[in-house]
Formats: sequence, C-alpha cells, structure tokens
Amino acid sequence: MSDAKAKKTPRVPENAPVSEKEQQTLDLIVEKLKPQLEKHRTSQGTLLRFVRGFKDDPHPQQKSLEMVEMMLKWRDEVNVEKIVSTIHPKEALFKTMWVTGLHGETRDGHVVYIERLGMINPSKIQKEFTHDDIMHFHIQMMERVTAYKDRLSDERGQRVYKQVVILDLKGLGLSHLSSKFIDPMKKIIHVDQFCYPETLLQMFVVNAGLMVKTAWALASPFVDPITKSNIHFGNDKLLQYIDKGQLPKFLGGDCRCKDGNCLIENFVPGPSDGKGSLIRSDTSKSKNDSGDDPTARSSLSADHRDKK
Ligand SMILES: [Zn+2]
Repeated sequence: MSDAKAKKTPRVPENAPVSEKEQQTLDLIVEKLKPQLEKHRTSQGTLLRFVRGFKDDPHPQQKSLEMVEMMLKWRDEVNVEKIVSTIHPKEALFKTMWVTGLHGETRDGHVVYIERLGMINPSKIQKEFTHDDIMHFHIQMMERVTAYKDRLSDERGQRVYKQVVILDLKGLGLSHLSSKFIDPMKKIIHVDQFCYPETLLQMFVVNAGLMVKTAWALASPFVDPITKSNIHFGNDKLLQYIDKGQLPKFLGGDCRCKDGNCLIENFVPGPSDGKGSLIRSDTSKSKNDSGDDPTARSSLSADHRDKK
C-alpha cells in the first residue's frame, strides 16, 4: 500500500485553520461527490479527517478523494443509516460481553473511549454473535461517537474530531489469539482505518501482560515514530492526561458512576435524531444541586462531576 510506505509528517492539530491546500482538496471532494455527501450528511470535520489523514500519500488530493468515495460506497453497501437507527435484539447481551464506551474527558477536553478487550470471551461471543452482529455494534458506536464529537465541535466553536482510546487488556490470554477473536478484530481495524481515519489522538494500553509487552517491544522499532509517540503503555500514564474523577475505578480513577458500572451505565445508545446522539443514563437526567439540567449539556464529564 503506497500510503503505508509514505514517510509520515507531523499530524495537523484538529483546531488548526484549514490551509489553502486543504481547502482546495475539500472543494474538489465536494465538487465531485456532492450528492453522495449530502445523502450521508457528511460533516466538514469528517471530510477534513480524510484530507489530513492521507496528507502523506504521494498524491494526497487524489488519495483523499478516492478514500472519501470509498467510504461513501461502503456506507451505502452496509447501510450505515439503517444500522444506526436499528436496535439489535441482543444489544443488552452484547453490551455485557463486549464492554466498551465513552467515559469522561481528558484534561484538554477530548472524549475518552474505553475498550475492555481483555474481558471479551471469544468462544462465548462467537456462540451468540456473528461477525456481522459485531460489526453492527461497532459501526453504531463509531457513528454515535462521531455525531457526539460533531455536536461538541458545534457547541464549543472549535473542531473536535479525535478521541483518546484506552485499551484495557486485563484478562487477555491465549484464547484471544484464536480466529474467533482475531477475525472480527481485523475487520474492525480495517473499517476504522479506512472509513474513520484520523480519529485517534492518543492510545493508552493498560493492564498489558508480558505477552503484549514483549510483542510491543519487538514491533516498536518498526513502528513509525509519530504513531509510536501517541501510544502509551502503563496505567500511571493515564493520570498524566486524565483526572482521577474522569476515570472509572477499574482504571484507578474515582468516578461516581452508579455501581461502578461505568461504560454500560453511561453510554446508552438511543435512536438516531438525524445526527445520532449520545443519550445520557437515567441517573444523569435528574437535576443536580445547582438546579441545572445536566441533559442540556453535552459534556460527558459533567455527568461525572455532577453525580453524588
Ligand atoms: Zn464511571
């Protein structure tokens, strides 16, 4: 793949003004793909991710256009709109088996997406869910996170299209090397890479065992330095970026979510309102001490601060 071999240049900060060159590419994309972009209500933030995500390709303008086109085709093929608005009959079960979701914010205001990969039981997942089911839930999650960030951008008047990811590997073992786990993960990574590029700000890998640490030590000399600088190992690193109150207890934080069941409690998917939205948990809908209605705010962190 040509882009994988291209030398990476430093990433453009999300909030950096759109450069003239970027604008030219955006204009080209809109000119060529206007009906499809309108059909899928593609935001400017999303387009800019494609422009910036493929900036190191030898032919960046053409590449960004191609990738947006590919993404739009993929959205038609898998029918993303339908996925977003469809409640899967086994959603509740899935959420207990594949625990993932948004939780709080970093000190610099980025949403934090936590994936408890080590807790997944590959055999049980395969017994209950097909790869299509798994992809259904993943797409729903990515769409809601994207819509949430678009909303944050509107409210703050500044672009927020990246998130911080915490991969919790507690429980990861040899069973996770089986194709039951690796195959759906490969599909997820592929979709994220090509259909949701440039969304990762920093990744924190926590509770990694010796196996993962060794694999990383072997692989890291071959990993691009810019990518490497955004991947952090170790639980203590988290607290350098995220306040304790914004982290669940299982990651060393002291958030006040009910039952400590943070991710299931806080990331309650709701029906799409056109943009998709993060719907708050029931407990956060009550008025807080200051009399504000927390549902009126979009910041996930407010949930954590307001709860008693
Ligand atoms: Zn919590």
